[in-house]
Amino acid sequence: MQRTKLGSALTRSARTLRLVAGGVVDKYHPLLVQIIPMRRCNLACAYCNEYDQSSKPVPLPVMLRRIDRLAELGTACVTISGGEPLMHPELDAILARIREHGMIAGLITNGLLLGPDRIARLNQAGLEYLQISIDNVAPDAVSQKSLKTLDRKLQHLAEHALFHVNINSVVGAQLGNRQDPVIIAKRARDLGFSTSIGVLHDESGQLSPLSASEAAVYDEVVRLGQGVYTRINDFQRNLIAGRPNNWHCRAGARYLYVCEEGLVHYCSQQRGKPGIALLEYSREDIRREFYSVKDCAPLCTIGCVHRASTLDELRPSELVRRYRSAQKAPHGAPDVAAGHEAV
Ligand code: SF4
Ligand code: SF4
Repeated sequence: MQRTKLGSALTRSARTLRLVAGGVVDKYHPLLVQIIPMRRCNLACAYCNEYDQSSKPVPLPVMLRRIDRLAELGTACVTISGGEPLMHPELDAILARIREHGMIAGLITNGLLLGPDRIARLNQAGLEYLQISIDNVAPDAVSQKSLKTLDRKLQHLAEHALFHVNINSVVGAQLGNRQDPVIIAKRARDLGFSTSIGVLHDESGQLSPLSASEAAVYDEVVRLGQGVYTRINDFQRNLIAGRPNNWHCRAGARYLYVCEEGLVHYCSQQRGKPGIALLEYSREDIRREFYSVKDCAPLCTIGCVHRASTLDELRPSELVRRYRSAQKAPHGAPDVAAGHEAV
């Protein structure tokens, strides 16, 4: 039977809800894993510390074994990232394996290699979510990920993709024209995509300060947005206003970052911790990291880890912890040590 956009969207929503429900029932499995099949990228954005220009793709059998291990750990959603994952010659087989296990399949790409045929093959492989980050309206010395370069690709996606497309834009000191994120978000909305906005972080995942005009742009893009990506922006608003967040980062448990060497890290900006091979990563490791406290949490800007940790923020024991923490720190400073409490 031929898949349609509406049918795909309904199936995707139902599966996502089922996996969220599973996340409520069992605390000790990953909700979101970002995995790198290739560190190499066909661009060289000036702010990026997540790519190289020479490495080879991870061989398919190695990638499939890693995907199988994620399924054994009970992972809900696997997002393939890079470098540029569309440069991996066997990306479709990796996506298909994720779907065979019943996990949700996502992709973060710079979009340069997308065309009608490539999109059709991604449909065929079972891709469910795709995100492109666009940095500016016209390319400059900092970034080539521009609306001008990518607009034709976005039109192809609007026409052919059966998967959900989200367009992310970024505010931050290094990026050119202040109004660019608004122009990008409006174009994405016109094409029927959801939008999100992030805050440019430094090399340890922390906030680079924003000006008042950048904060206003942030608010406008959030207002334009739709979909799950824009509904959890309070933490970024706090950071923009200079307030730390009182949250428990569940990296290493609810969120894993698996590098091209097959090691589990907290996130792209905290590599080396815990630095354990995925094939040896166990439920005990997940349980330990669920409760471990990350000193970088109060000023962290990594949105996907905030989202993966959100479900557990709503548990009664976590609400009690936050209440006690607020009582101890009346001026809003987070009581980080309180995060050691069992949830
Ligand atoms: S396209 Fe993405 S991975 Fe490649 S250099 Fe730019 S930000 Fe880094
Ligand atoms: S708080 Fe968590 S997601 Fe943020 S930088 Fe630290 S380890 Fe990474």
